[in-house]
Amino acid sequence: MNQGSGFRQKVMQFMQGRYGVDQLSNFLISAAVILALFGMFVRVPALNIICWILIIIGYVRIFSKNINKRYAENQKFLDKTFGIRNVFAKAKYRMKYGKQSSEPYYIYKCKKCGQRIRIPKGKGKIMVTCPKCKYQFKKYSR
Ligand SMILES: [Zn+2]
Repeated sequence: MNQGSGFRQKVMQFMQGRYGVDQLSNFLISAAVILALFGMFVRVPALNIICWILIIIGYVRIFSKNINKRYAENQKFLDKTFGIRNVFAKAKYRMKYGKQSSEPYYIYKCKKCGQRIRIPKGKGKIMVTCPKCKYQFKKYSR
């Protein structure tokens, strides 16, 4: 038990002042895993190298101390992939609830940090908490 919490403390100490995981790093590492799986079936010589590069970039970003720069990169990534991520989210919803359903949520931008936040429809008056900066605001969801 003691050893466990000691390890956790060491990890926390190590991560202090470092950026941590974000969507971009998650994407890079997941892409590497998917490519690696793909590589088990198809022999593409460069695939291994690409996987390692993606994983290395992902982890370099996670352990980076230049938080502002990493944050800006992630925002850029989110902005550029917003359309396609939205398409996936809608497709997922349609698979779950059928074709006739309209979009299940609104997208709001956090006034403080610009983070896009999904708010489910039909909830009435709700308090929304930004997942990134924890800023809270009231919204009416029809
Ligand atoms: Zn925010």
